[in-house]
Formats: sequence, C-alpha cells, structure tokens
Amino acid sequence: MLLHPSFDVNDQGHLTIGGLDSAVLSDTYGTPAYYLDIDAVRAMCRMYKKNFETYFGGASTPIYAGKALCIKKLYSIIAEEGLMADCVSPGELHTAHAAGFPMEKVFFHGNNKTDADLTYALELGVGHIVVDGLDELHALNAIAGNLGKNATVLLRITPGIDPHTHQKIITGNVDSKFGMAIQTGQAMEFVKAALAAENIVLDGFHCHVGSQIFDIAPFREAAEIMLAFVARVRSEYGFMAKILNIGGGFGVRYTEEDPEIDYEANIRALGEEFDAICAELNLPKPAIMMEPGRSIVAAAGATVYTVGTVKTVTGFRSYVSVDGGMPDNPRYTLYGSRYTIVNADRADAPADFECTLAGRCCESGDLLAEGIRIARPERGTHLAVLVTGAYNHSMASNYNRIPRPPVIFIENGQSSVAVRRETYEDLLALED
Ligand SMILES: *Cc1c(COP(=O)(O)O)cnc(C)c1O
Repeated sequence: MLLHPSFDVNDQGHLTIGGLDSAVLSDTYGTPAYYLDIDAVRAMCRMYKKNFETYFGGASTPIYAGKALCIKKLYSIIAEEGLMADCVSPGELHTAHAAGFPMEKVFFHGNNKTDADLTYALELGVGHIVVDGLDELHALNAIAGNLGKNATVLLRITPGIDPHTHQKIITGNVDSKFGMAIQTGQAMEFVKAALAAENIVLDGFHCHVGSQIFDIAPFREAAEIMLAFVARVRSEYGFMAKILNIGGGFGVRYTEEDPEIDYEANIRALGEEFDAICAELNLPKPAIMMEPGRSIVAAAGATVYTVGTVKTVTGFRSYVSVDGGMPDNPRYTLYGSRYTIVNADRADAPADFECTLAGRCCESGDLLAEGIRIARPERGTHLAVLVTGAYNHSMASNYNRIPRPPVIFIENGQSSVAVRRETYEDLLALED
C-alpha cells in the first residue's frame, strides 16, 4: 500500500490503482488521465452512513458535497449508497438531476443564488434550499409564492470559528461572505424573518467551518455554538430545529506528513459531544447532518502523466515537466497544496532524485510540486500524483487550450470511462 489502500506496487514495480497496472491503464486511456477507485469511494460512503447512524442517530444521513467531484456517474454511486447530496450551483443541480439523483435528497447552497437559480431549484423539487441571507430569503419567498409552492429551507449561520486551516478555505468566521452571524445578532433576525415568511418552511440550520480539518475541535466548537443557538431560537420563538447540518471539512492525508485520520473515532467522539451538549441544554437532539466532500473521493483518485523534458539548471534545481499541470490540477498554484508523487513505472525504486514538477503551460507558476523526491524519471516515464480525487477534475480549466483529461472509474478490477477526454473539436464547440 502506498499512502492509501487504492495504491500499491506490482511485481513489475509499476504503480497500481484500484488493483490495475497504471502502465497498462496509460496505454489504454493515454495521459494525462484521472483515475478513481470506486470501491474506495463506496467504502467511504458506507463508513459515513454506518457511523452517522450509530453515533449521530437514525435520522442522520451523510450529504456528499458534490463540488469535490461532480459528474453524473458519481452521483449514481452516491445515490446507490443512500447518501444525500449538496449542490452549490444550478450546474451541479442539473448534473445531479441528469444522473437521476433523487432531488428531494439535495441541499442547495451558495452565497449568491440568482432568481433563476432559485426558480430552477424549486422546479426540480430540491429538498432543501440553504438560504444564505435576508435578500435571498425574500426573493425565495416571492418566487415560491409565484410558483404556488412552499420552499423548505435551512438557514446558513456563521458561528464565528477559526478552524486553523488554509485562509482561503476558512468559511465559518464572522467576517465572511457566507451566512448570517450569530455574534452580530443578525442570525436571530434571519430566523425571525424566515418564520414570518409565508412560503418558507424552516427545517433547521446549517454552518460550515472550513476544509481539511484533522481534529474534531472545530466541529465540537461549531456544535456547541450551533446547539446553543438552536436552544435560544426555541426559547425565543418556540421553534425547534429538525435538522442541524454542521457542514463538511474532514481532512484527507495527502502526504506522509499529514496525520492519519480515524474517521470513525472522530464521528463517535462528535456524537458523544452532541449528546452531552443537548443534555446540558435540555434540548431534544435534532437530526445531525454533515457534508463530507473531499474525504469521500480524494484518496480514491490519482492522476497519471507522461514526463517530457527533464532539465537540471546547473547550480539551481532540476525540473521535470509533464503533459498536464495547472489546467488539470490548480491546487498547488492556488493554495500551495502538497501531494505524494511517484514514478509510476518504478514505484519500488528509491526516491532519490530531488526536483520541481512543472506543468506544460506558458506560466512560470504552473507547478505541481517543488522539492519532491522521486525515482529519477526520463522522457516517456509515467508519473502519478496521488490523492487527486477531490478538487482536481472539478477545478479543471482549458487554460492554454489544453483539453481536459478523461475520468476513468475502476471498480471490481474493471476500468471504464466516466468522462471522456476532451478533443480539440470540443474546445471549439461553443464558437461561431
Ligand atoms: C466545500 C463545502 C463542503 C465540503 O467540504 P470538504 O472539505 O470537501 O468536505 C461541504 N459543505 C459546504 C457548504 C461547502 O462549501
């Protein structure tokens, strides 16, 4: 096993993904290509489902955050595993709907949903709209009225928490574009307005504190603040929340320096916290929901590239360039994210060649990693970046007119195309 169960090395020294030889896969599908081990995705879904039921209670269901990887075939798998889904744009709603995902199991998020977005969500029969602010609440109330429907909602609340993760992925602090803050009193006003709105059915509250969180402290803090809020709303307005959704954010191990996470132990500990806090507040426990995205798909994915130029700048460093880069994985450029990278053709050889891994774009910042060590590659060698199942395909672009790689699913020892490789014709498809 290399870092995660989806990755191993076979007798020929080749990296295997979901048990299949990455060199054979590359011959079949070309490079670069994204691979996703569906058995591992299903295992994570089952882990969340079972442990939420056990430790949060029977009404608690995990909600897959589709922004991590949003494709039809994955929604089908999420539906088969009995999870709910969170969508953050009408495009994601459309994808879920096209996959036949049960729309009543969808939560629709976003800090700036347009009237058209809200209309589309109501027409599709989305189960819950997570209303982000007062303007949206009034707009939704009016749109629902015009359609002769009620909109069932959660209200997005900002609990005011710093989860000590990367600045750009903190979302639960007071000064945020998301939600209404408890600290400023605006959250209570928000509840009052929702309860007064004719065509709005309030089901509960939502918050999301951030991403890539490795210990339960930020979630515990969110639980304390949010349950105290639920209790205050109950005593002031006589409204008891049915659902408390505390968002996504469980971390994933990208490199050996990241801690290993025992998800079950975390969920158990959180479940105990919920019970203790509810007992202390003398509050019936709402259905507890969480929205894992990254942790369901990231560690099941890898991207395989072919090496082109290998160059040592005398006195400086060695650059290894591959046939992809920031268009298929912008996360190093955006966040300085670190990955485990292996020479996929000699995955068992000592990783003794220090280099910078560069993409193919005309952009100096187009790097995938710096200061990494891999077995020395040469032109034609396959390289794999591990743990790319989340926020890679979903963040991909066509910068430099580079067609996006295919997404290949691997399940039960079989590979199949979930998304085909883009062609040059696809790149021109929207042009007159
Ligand atoms: C991004 C996001 C998630 C998923 O976060 P992960 O870190 O991928 O688990 C869940 N809920 C909301 C509202 C989000 O914005």
